[in-house]
Amino acid sequence: MKKILFLILLTSFSTLVKSQLTLDYYLPENVAYNSSVPTPRMFFGHEIGEWHLSHDKLYSYMLVLAKVSEKALWEEYAKSYEGRPLGQLIISSPENIKNIEQLRQEHLSLCDPSRSGKSDIDEMPVFIKLGYGIHGNESSAQNASALVAYYLIAGEGKEIDELLKNAVILIDPALNPDGMQRHSTWVNFTKSLNNNPDPASWEFSETWPGGRTNHYWFDLNRDYLMLQQPESKGRVAAFHKWKPNINTDHHETGANETFFFQPGIKSRNNPLTPPENYELTAEIGKYHEKYLNSIGSLYYTEESFDDFYIGKGSSYPDIHGSVGILFEQAGVKGHLRETPGGLLSFPFAIRNQFTVSLSTLEAGLRMKNKLLESQRNFYKEALDMADKHPVRAYIFSEPSDNSRVSEFINILLQHRIKIFGTTRDITKDGVLYKTGNSYIVPLKQTEYRFIRSLFEPVKEFTDSAFYDVSTWVLPMSFNLNYSALTLAKETDGLAGSEIISPPSVAGQLVSPEEPYAFLFEWSEYYSPKALFMLQKTGLNTRVSMESFVYDDGVLKKRFSAGTIVIPASGQAISGQELRSLMEKTAIECGITVYGVRTGLTMEGIDLGSNRIVVLSKPSVAMITGEGTNSADAGEIWHLLDTRFNVPLTMITAQRFSTADLKRYNVLIITGSPDISPAGIDNIRAWNRSGGILIGYETGNRWLARNKFADMEFIEETGDGKEDGVYMNRAADRQVRQIPGSILETHLDLTHPLCFGYIRDNLPVFKSTSTAVKKTGDIYNNPVQYTADPLLSGYCTATNISRIKGTSFASVHENRVISFYDNTNFRAVWYGTNKVFLNAIFFGQTIR
Ligand SMILES: [Zn+2]
Repeated sequence: MKKILFLILLTSFSTLVKSQLTLDYYLPENVAYNSSVPTPRMFFGHEIGEWHLSHDKLYSYMLVLAKVSEKALWEEYAKSYEGRPLGQLIISSPENIKNIEQLRQEHLSLCDPSRSGKSDIDEMPVFIKLGYGIHGNESSAQNASALVAYYLIAGEGKEIDELLKNAVILIDPALNPDGMQRHSTWVNFTKSLNNNPDPASWEFSETWPGGRTNHYWFDLNRDYLMLQQPESKGRVAAFHKWKPNINTDHHETGANETFFFQPGIKSRNNPLTPPENYELTAEIGKYHEKYLNSIGSLYYTEESFDDFYIGKGSSYPDIHGSVGILFEQAGVKGHLRETPGGLLSFPFAIRNQFTVSLSTLEAGLRMKNKLLESQRNFYKEALDMADKHPVRAYIFSEPSDNSRVSEFINILLQHRIKIFGTTRDITKDGVLYKTGNSYIVPLKQTEYRFIRSLFEPVKEFTDSAFYDVSTWVLPMSFNLNYSALTLAKETDGLAGSEIISPPSVAGQLVSPEEPYAFLFEWSEYYSPKALFMLQKTGLNTRVSMESFVYDDGVLKKRFSAGTIVIPASGQAISGQELRSLMEKTAIECGITVYGVRTGLTMEGIDLGSNRIVVLSKPSVAMITGEGTNSADAGEIWHLLDTRFNVPLTMITAQRFSTADLKRYNVLIITGSPDISPAGIDNIRAWNRSGGILIGYETGNRWLARNKFADMEFIEETGDGKEDGVYMNRAADRQVRQIPGSILETHLDLTHPLCFGYIRDNLPVFKSTSTAVKKTGDIYNNPVQYTADPLLSGYCTATNISRIKGTSFASVHENRVISFYDNTNFRAVWYGTNKVFLNAIFFGQTIR
């Protein structure tokens, strides 16, 4: 079978290309290769660099190498959304490969201070992970991985033997298979046999949204911390399984750049990373210097990129006792391209990535004991540092919403953080943390540094510029109650049993045999999923605009505004069918549904009140494609599709002049799509006849510009920091930016956009400097920034005073709803998802 595949590939590709490019261009001199191992040309039918490898071909090559060699085995750790396997080719000496499980166990003992003292580092191999192309359109990375694998497996001689005896090498050939497949398809189908380097060529204009991101257009190189995508979940599990001492992260940057390797900007290193990490990175850099000198490539270090945000591939290892290294190669994004520095070829880019892979391996070999020792110290030190830290533990709970708590715990557990139940009720910061639904995370554990970075709000920084966000306090993004416990009397004896899996979220129906109506609260995370499930079956569903107290002697409960009411009568299905449907829905969505006996309530409106409003099933469309914001659009698509099972019709800007919008009752706009005047007229007519327009982030500027609503943007002014010195202009500009900070808003809990919230304050994520004045109608600004909004992260005093008291979400005349900031950031802002979903489900009720 293997042979047939190989022959097919050989005949289909080799005839297409005649070129001078050979393996010698890449490989080091004076190495002999085992001829029984297929070369890339034998396997792919062309030399590496002549065409872009698609993911399936690269993956197949890895499997073949693992099969033909005793030096390697393939380990799969995840599947992408589109079903492509992610994994790593594990390469070492045949003897090490035979004992790989034992070596792994011994290696892991270094991360366990109770065992690590006994480890004999001299006798242990170093573990090195080479990771390629997390941005799927940074192809020199993935294409180089095939060469590295071939070199290590086919290569023979003393040097390679010494390396493999002392190192276990994990090659992760394609960190983002779906993005890689999109990009390779693009550049191969636009390639000419005579490479055309004209930068205006179609080949270099990859179509929206490009191959950088995964299936739902998420940047996987930001998801190491959030763990919302299957690729990262598997990858982080694999990281903890192997705890490699060095982790490379091979990327591409602009075509006009040279080659960058870390260390990056020192002042922007995350302060929770030990300084030693930066020094090790610099020492490893000496090897890259030597290797890149030998091929004459231009390179630089320390001027850009940083490891502040710990959710990236080069920084996640740094806060886990390993060394992460970012590489950035000038990207061709095609096969040959004119640049101011001359012609940039795809093979040249691949050769640089290959070369720094080899320098990394030599560094790992020469620095073996130092790296292993550093890993051992890192975890030993963690426990000592925890003893000196004022916080002893963090406690959290959210009794109104088990799903959010469960998902939060799920993330912590995947990061190997220890969590415990509590043994007694405790009140802290005015919050009662009841035993049974409260959890504590003690700081004294090996993940001490990582826990601090997840829980500790930060408002002071040594540097005011950030490559990515400035804060990521996870309990805030989940809108949980949480507190730091600092006193021994608070924490002594508080930890109960260890939580080893996310608490199960059991849904239930609490109901008499023949109820008058069914009710469920909106506060649970998956209540919208339940409502949509019911609406899909054609049920008559209603929402209560006010809270009320129900009491029939059996059930006594206050139901909040936003409670969903399903009358038993007047439905198209029988009472028994309805009852089973309600039960199925409750269980599937993990919510509690109550059956009630009568329509009269104890207090507040009755169940037949006009204040319990009939709902229409949302039918949602979103403008998608060129001009729109793929990150915003992808997060919305992911939210509706993967969590709430709400279908989303994605319509490109070009179709609006003729699209039949009557099919939809909600239309979402992100970014700045280029829609024709006829298309805009079509949207306007639809909106006037009842359609709800949701402006999301910059989509609001589009709505304002096209006169769908009046919005008063408060534009930025200088921050007084500018010194007019030419050299400082970029830094001056950065000072004014909001790189991603957490701010506090105040909610009007009686407004349909705020249904389901229990507390009237809500942390939100702000990554743009947009500030918009409240609308003239004072009842239409349900989510506003508070007077002193900064909770965590970097934000200048000028920006704070510009933003405070402005609107986070507002409702305009004519059914236009604006979210000026991101409610779905990186899929981890579970706390703000509901405001957005409320616009979709309840926007129709706002008058
Ligand atoms: Zn990249």
